[in-house]
Amino acid sequence: MIAYIERFVHENDAESRPNDDSVTSLTDNDNDSGEDITSLCKGQDLQGTIDYELTGSAGKDFGGIRRTRPLAVVRPANPRDVALVVRAAGRSPNLTVAARGNGHSINGQAMADRGMVIEMRAIEDYYFEIININGSHCADVSGGALWEDVLARCVLGFGLAPRSWTDYLALTIGGTLSNAGVSGQAFRYGPQTSNVTELEVVTGKGDIVICSEAQNPELFLGVLGGLGQFGIITRARILLQKAPDMVRWIRLVYAEFDEFTRDAEFLVTRPENGESFDYVEGFVFLNSDDPVNGWPSVPLVSDQWFDSSRIPPAAGSVLYCLEVALHYQHHDHPSTVDAIVDRLLGRLRFCENLRFEVDSSYMEFLLRVKKVEQRAKANGIWDAPHPWLNLFISKRDIADFDRVVFSKILKDGIGGPMLVYPLLRSRWDDRTSVVLPEGEIFYIVALLRFSPPYPEGPPLQELVAQNNEIIGQCARRGYNFKLYLPHYETQEEWKQHFGNQWTRFVERKASFDPMAILAPGQKILSRTT
Ligand code: FAD
Repeated sequence: MIAYIERFVHENDAESRPNDDSVTSLTDNDNDSGEDITSLCKGQDLQGTIDYELTGSAGKDFGGIRRTRPLAVVRPANPRDVALVVRAAGRSPNLTVAARGNGHSINGQAMADRGMVIEMRAIEDYYFEIININGSHCADVSGGALWEDVLARCVLGFGLAPRSWTDYLALTIGGTLSNAGVSGQAFRYGPQTSNVTELEVVTGKGDIVICSEAQNPELFLGVLGGLGQFGIITRARILLQKAPDMVRWIRLVYAEFDEFTRDAEFLVTRPENGESFDYVEGFVFLNSDDPVNGWPSVPLVSDQWFDSSRIPPAAGSVLYCLEVALHYQHHDHPSTVDAIVDRLLGRLRFCENLRFEVDSSYMEFLLRVKKVEQRAKANGIWDAPHPWLNLFISKRDIADFDRVVFSKILKDGIGGPMLVYPLLRSRWDDRTSVVLPEGEIFYIVALLRFSPPYPEGPPLQELVAQNNEIIGQCARRGYNFKLYLPHYETQEEWKQHFGNQWTRFVERKASFDPMAILAPGQKILSRTT
């Protein structure tokens, strides 16, 4: 296999071909070569399959901004296959390998232009086991499993659930752990990367390594939030809690940003053993009847109505919504749940009578974005390009960000949610690879654009330019901020992103992926021989 891959790579030497991200056309010769690689890999005991992805999903992602053409797509049968492919790439002069989770990146992060893409979902069922370690339950799950499947297996089979989530669950374990994995539970439990106790990883050297805080800690901490740079996660051990049966899901409207942030920060800093909500998020919406961006985006169910006469006359062009949820069990008396909610809400300053609530099953609540996906698929918006922008911004700068970005640049909305809510740095582990702004409280801002494809919606370039304008404003105004799910084109920008963690990043790369084989779509370091 190796000899043949080398020949193929020489024939397709990256330097001899234009280095752009567009789909290159295939020649008959390329296709013939592909079939040979397949047969040679079989000779190497690969249990899975190798395919030649010409127009399929491995060269695309949810962002819909970039397209590449991989050399081949591997569907492994087990972690050993993953290691075999990485080792094979290591013996070639310039092959790279991208683990692809569910391809929900925005800027080609899971792609490998003329490299090998490993479809991790092919081994999504390879591991699944609930284990009890000193009285704490954990789930051992495959890196390629979807969080929504882990949810169903844990809750329905065992009455247990992971503690920290993302808003949308058709994402893989390995994909979110390579970034952070953030939702409304993170203020309490930290991101998903803070809720993992052990990993099985295939390093860039092709070694299969078990790691944890106690065993190979540098690899463990490096891989968490490591943008796929140090290893491919084939198994993760996820901390579980008893799953609640139900959730009281509440939305509260604010006219003033400072009141919104004061209440959000009050809720996320409640003492751990006192009463508090189990989920705290927030979003910005337009002070208008715009069906997508305005008042109608706030009610939780169709029989609720947004009474705009309740909005204070001094309100500006945008309003704010605090979104909270309280877990409870079927056996909890409704009056007990009401009393906790009333005590917590009694301390808040939202607009009177602009409060929406609904009781929902725990699984329905966690799968709430699935419904959005189904609607967006039906009207063609799911498959349109999504130039999303995610930022972490320090508490110090968030009010200015509101004035400059939400209230001015984005005053007409983005055709989708504009999330903004506080997180606590102490719930994150600064030994992992994730980089954060300074200060204990910082905000996540997620601009989740869902415009119809051009010409029905704005041209993609216009939206990308608006994102760049926002990043430019943050830089010019001296905000303390970091991109979440970062994307840069140059190493200089990556160095700036990592700041004083760049040296540690480079050292970890040298230890675990010295030839820079893994995750080339992140464009951090180039493949060496
Ligand atoms: P991919 O896009 O396939 O891969 C992402 C990166 O991880 C690539 O570099 C890839 O090479 C690497 N990778 C993939 N699998 C592995 C593995 N097993 N081991 C090592 N590296 C691997 N994020 C949040 O934090 N919170 C949210 O609420 C949230 N909501 C989202 C909603 C939607 C609709 C979408 C599209 C994205 C959302 N995200 C959210 C972002 C999401 O967490 C990241 O884009 C994540 O990387 C997607 O997971 P994936 O499995 O599709 O990964």
